[in-house]
Amino acid sequence: MHGTGQSQGHLARLSAGLEHSGVEDGQGFDLRVLVRMVRHAAAEAERLGQPVPDRLGVDGGGFAALAAYLCIDSLLGGSPHRQTDPEDEEIMVRELLRQNCAANGPVAEWISCIVARRALEPNHLWEDLGLAARGDLSTLLDRHFPALAAKNTRNMRWKKFLYRALCEAEGFSMCPSPTCDSCAEFDLCYGDESGASQIVRNNRKSQEAD
Ligand code: SF4
Repeated sequence: MHGTGQSQGHLARLSAGLEHSGVEDGQGFDLRVLVRMVRHAAAEAERLGQPVPDRLGVDGGGFAALAAYLCIDSLLGGSPHRQTDPEDEEIMVRELLRQNCAANGPVAEWISCIVARRALEPNHLWEDLGLAARGDLSTLLDRHFPALAAKNTRNMRWKKFLYRALCEAEGFSMCPSPTCDSCAEFDLCYGDESGASQIVRNNRKSQEAD
């Protein structure tokens, strides 16, 4: 896609600068995490030959505003519109997050869209968001959706927690069991999701193969 390579270079430099900038406030944290998420989705879009909005979950005017916020509006190229319609699960998670925003604004809206879209991917949610560690996702959800995040009292995997919240809203009709403790999928929902990211694991594997 025209401009994507330039965008990747710009995002990589911006990301490196933010990662090493030392002390950060809440806005600095949001910016650092947004850059990581956009960079990850843009790299995936380039690899798959798809528009960035389809991989990121932010569409139309919201995408254009995000690109302008990160100063990549002239670089990303391509249409700001998705080519594919969002899946039902994505729409439901996005609405759940929107309804639980601590404050309305573009940053919370972008994060709601991105988290909902990336939750469709197969790995731990923090990995598929392109974050460095699970802790960054916990901080992000605590900052923007504090009442919802506070309900994760048993440290459930974040993607599973979001789907469990939807299940609860639907009268517990989506899970195989009404209570987690008696569910055969308990380990899938509550297992440890920390550790090295996919990128780090892949790097280790290629170093071992050398
Ligand atoms: S452990 Fe079972 S009941 Fe609990 S959230 Fe997971 S799938 Fe649903």
